[in-house]
Amino acid sequence: MPGRIPDRIPLARIITPQSVAVIGASDDIGKFGGRVIHYLIRHGYPGRLLPINPNRASIRGLPAFPGIGAAPGPVDVAILAVPAAALLRQVEDCAAAGVGACIIITGKLAEAGAAGAALQKQVLAVARAAGMRLVGPNCLGIFNMTDAAMLSSSLALEAEGLRPGGIGMVSQSGALMGTLVSLGHGYGAGFSRCISVGNQADLELCDFLEFLIEDAATRVITLYVEGLVAPRRFAPLLRRARAAGKPVLCVKAGRSEAGAQAARSHTASLAGSFAAFEAVCREAGAVLLEDPAAMVLAADALDRLPRLPRAELGLAVIASSGGSTVTCADQLPAAGLRLAELSAATRAELRRFMPESHVHLPLDTGSFDEGTSEDGLQACIRAFMADDDIGAVVFPMTTQPAMAGRAALLPPLCQEGGKPLLYVMTAGTVGDAARERMRQVGFPFYDRVSDALAVLRALEAEAAGRARAKLPPPARPEAAGPVPPGLPSGALNEAEAKRLAAAYGIPVTRERLVRSAAEAALAAQSIGYPVVLKGVSRGVVHKSDLGIVKLDLADADAVRAAFADVAARLERAAPEGMEGALVQEMARGEVELILGARHDPGLGPMVLVGAGGILVEVLRDVQVAPAPLRGADAMAMLERLKLWPVLAGVRGRPALDAAAAAAALVRLSWLAADLGPRLVEMDLNPLILRAAGHGGVAVDARATLLASA
Ligand code: ADP
Ligand code: MG
Repeated sequence: MPGRIPDRIPLARIITPQSVAVIGASDDIGKFGGRVIHYLIRHGYPGRLLPINPNRASIRGLPAFPGIGAAPGPVDVAILAVPAAALLRQVEDCAAAGVGACIIITGKLAEAGAAGAALQKQVLAVARAAGMRLVGPNCLGIFNMTDAAMLSSSLALEAEGLRPGGIGMVSQSGALMGTLVSLGHGYGAGFSRCISVGNQADLELCDFLEFLIEDAATRVITLYVEGLVAPRRFAPLLRRARAAGKPVLCVKAGRSEAGAQAARSHTASLAGSFAAFEAVCREAGAVLLEDPAAMVLAADALDRLPRLPRAELGLAVIASSGGSTVTCADQLPAAGLRLAELSAATRAELRRFMPESHVHLPLDTGSFDEGTSEDGLQACIRAFMADDDIGAVVFPMTTQPAMAGRAALLPPLCQEGGKPLLYVMTAGTVGDAARERMRQVGFPFYDRVSDALAVLRALEAEAAGRARAKLPPPARPEAAGPVPPGLPSGALNEAEAKRLAAAYGIPVTRERLVRSAAEAALAAQSIGYPVVLKGVSRGVVHKSDLGIVKLDLADADAVRAAFADVAARLERAAPEGMEGALVQEMARGEVELILGARHDPGLGPMVLVGAGGILVEVLRDVQVAPAPLRGADAMAMLERLKLWPVLAGVRGRPALDAAAAAAALVRLSWLAADLGPRLVEMDLNPLILRAAGHGGVAVDARATLLASA
């Protein structure tokens, strides 16, 4: 491949161009090109503006040029909102005229089928040959609030006075980006640069993520991701953002599709691309949200409020209504949040204003001896800010006298206290004066308690991400590996997969592969009754479905009969034939877990743990993480399972050996990390777990390997 033509201009110059040509500019704001120039002017673009239109001498009072070639150079950025049929020609002209980059709003390219994809390829080839960069196509361009360069046709730019601020955004949906900016604007949020990447023919999401990490105007980064062009770049960039002290908040489309594909292993169906993405975000300390609107509110809180001092702190809920404080507190557990424990000092301070019986969270200031005084309110919040178990204060204000005045007390208290204070104006339009006051002083507010709680969750996740970044890297346990020689490629049978697991120190059943009923009986004798006998045929995915798992065989007769039955069934059902039978110890335990590993083509090696056995897909109680793992990561995954209370011991049942499960998972994670792309997928299902101190054992295993490179 010939050396790449150097870029004509750096990315920063595309985002802050000194000159912009609008191809297809018009006085008609009903047209794309008309809106683009309208918004550039309206939001005060300070650079050189060049309308291009063969039929007009001037547009919006500016001299217009018949073609890009006729415009006086240099042109940093050309914005194209022309019909697809005219696109290639226009891009060729831009390349010939020395344009630095094209922002292509034009749609009906790769997103619209094969013909569009072919056209997009041609457009890209023209640009590449010239060192001209592309944003889009099928994008809505760039909003650069910091430098008043609104390079977009988005109707979000109808808003007046979009405030510059610290939130950067990269979005695979232009319409969603416009909506989020408009929504944030309504809450007083400020943005730095927002980039709609469209089809990412050339510049892609990670390029802009990298830019925002370096960008001095950006303090918090938000991402809307549908699919990554270069997934391998993603986690390292998240870690760089973390090192730069910039939170990354992300909404990923496709959650509901997770695991929809037909898969050969449980792990592949349960640890699909969404789960892998989520796991990578968690590991790299990014904050994944479900709701794009909550993402913007949370980014704004991270931009304008103090950050949580550390993760896992409690909350103080305070307002002058028992109804709003109690219902707010009621929603905390489901949001993964908790009320704080008040310190003695805080209690003593509160006691100055209210009877002892009312000194508790949530705090209803209606219970003050003298009614809700300003002094009392301020003193309580100051006490909360000084309390070590309190991470943030939530103020769900209901209709009351002097709402705006009371609200105005909060921003200085928040500033002084250095902890987030979330003000929720829960009323309708009667609360608008209070909202307006907050906008004026530049303080975030929320309309609904649920929004504030979603924000708090994100703040909590951000604090956890910060803490994670300080952890030492995972350490390899002793006697984990190497991969044993002589394993075939393709599907491994149970015995081979267990040999691989055992090489990493994962406990597996004692077992022997046999070829006859007589050998089976001998093997059972040496393993010790009761035993299990299973048919071995590497083509079979679910053995129990075929009736070839025979459990709890008590004597030689039972073993011989089981062998004969398994042989007969495999003869009927397995085209590859029977490789033999495994005779193995009959394991006893309390619970069945699944441990799995797979190599995500983009995101790398992943491990999974969950409620196992033959019902895994039904229960879908699994946790996924990138490999390798730390011991603490493995334990945290177990603790996040719905099954966790069972592992911890419930209703008088013994606690189970979670430490052994975590250790096996760590070992599996090293196996996955070592094999890398060679390990397509692996299931240990089930690993039967016994009571604490008694370990566990993998009774079934399956794996698919690629031939080593
Ligand atoms: P498959 O998953 O292919 O159907 P398994 O080998 O996992 O076959 O066996 C099915 C079920 O039988 C397991 O989920 C487990 O409950 C039980 N089982 C299998 N092997 C043993 C064993 N050695 N000891 C105890 N139970 C076993
Ligand atoms: Mg199984």
